[in-house]
Amino acid sequence: MSIKHRIRLGLYTVAKWTGMFAVCRLLMRRRLLILGYHGFQFTDEASFRPALFMRQQRFADRLAMLARGGYPVLPLAEGVRHLKNGTLPANAVVIVIDDGFFSVLDLAAPMLNKHGFPATLYVTSYYVTKGTPVFRLAVQYLFWKTKVTSLELPDRPWSSGVDVDLGDADAAYKAMWHIIDYGEANCDEEQRLEICAEVATALGLDFGTIITERGLSLLTPDELCRLEDFGIDVQLHTHRHIFPANDPVQARSELRENRMVLERILGRRLEHFCYPSGVWACDLLPVLAKEGIVSATTCQAGMNDQATNPLALYRILDQDNLHDIEFEAELTGFCELLRIVSGQRRCTDKGHCADI
Ligand SMILES: [Zn+2]
Repeated sequence: MSIKHRIRLGLYTVAKWTGMFAVCRLLMRRRLLILGYHGFQFTDEASFRPALFMRQQRFADRLAMLARGGYPVLPLAEGVRHLKNGTLPANAVVIVIDDGFFSVLDLAAPMLNKHGFPATLYVTSYYVTKGTPVFRLAVQYLFWKTKVTSLELPDRPWSSGVDVDLGDADAAYKAMWHIIDYGEANCDEEQRLEICAEVATALGLDFGTIITERGLSLLTPDELCRLEDFGIDVQLHTHRHIFPANDPVQARSELRENRMVLERILGRRLEHFCYPSGVWACDLLPVLAKEGIVSATTCQAGMNDQATNPLALYRILDQDNLHDIEFEAELTGFCELLRIVSGQRRCTDKGHCADI
């Protein structure tokens, strides 16, 4: 842990025990906090990408904290409606989950259901229709998990053709992205699976286990339909997880394809959206409005008030390596106060964040 991080934790602890958290909770009670998650851990995914996967115990602790603190957890549509009308209950929270990993149904849904907390799952539909692990994530996971120190790939168009010393971080990174870029540009899913299997073998790993465990796979159409039983509402996140800020035509086409696939599966109208990778710009807001989108969440950190544009909502992306007191500082609005005081809020008309 860095010194800066230790100082921050110390500051939060002092703020909590001097009553600042309680004061902020009162000051920020009319603001809507949207909490964002992605996938959940079956084996070691949270160690691989703590911003993308969360351990079950960590998530259970978060939900317990919400319940203990008496934070009303609202469905997204209800939260957005109350925000617009100025009728939010005090300290309201909305839970959203991005992408549509299998672990949401298998691990998170029963935990949310136990507390009676609703949630929204923003689903990117390409891999829902394919049923295979997310290619770029799978390749990165293999390179992270391997214990071998040098990589000898077979002679293939996707391999860089030279042995790679995996102790050399730059060389490993280049070799990994060469495979991902080639596979994404030139191959179909069947070929990508073959690539993953060959890379796994070269790295001393078993890709079959990764396919079976489904830690890096999304939900199937049938599984998406089962989410409703747990109070989880499926909404939009583009088909291929892209929404280019400089290309409104492609952005609209991504939204429409995503909507067509998901509405066919679910048999109902979808009208809430999450910008993939948090990439958004003001130019895209009219595209969403024309398509009848009611709300859209970004990755910009913050709470929402009545003046927030519903097509550029702030969120707090929770992650596995966020300490309990950091989470509590967000919940109570203490972090929001710091953002307002330091002028970090409301300064941009575009943004992005790291994602799959
Ligand atoms: Zn996403």
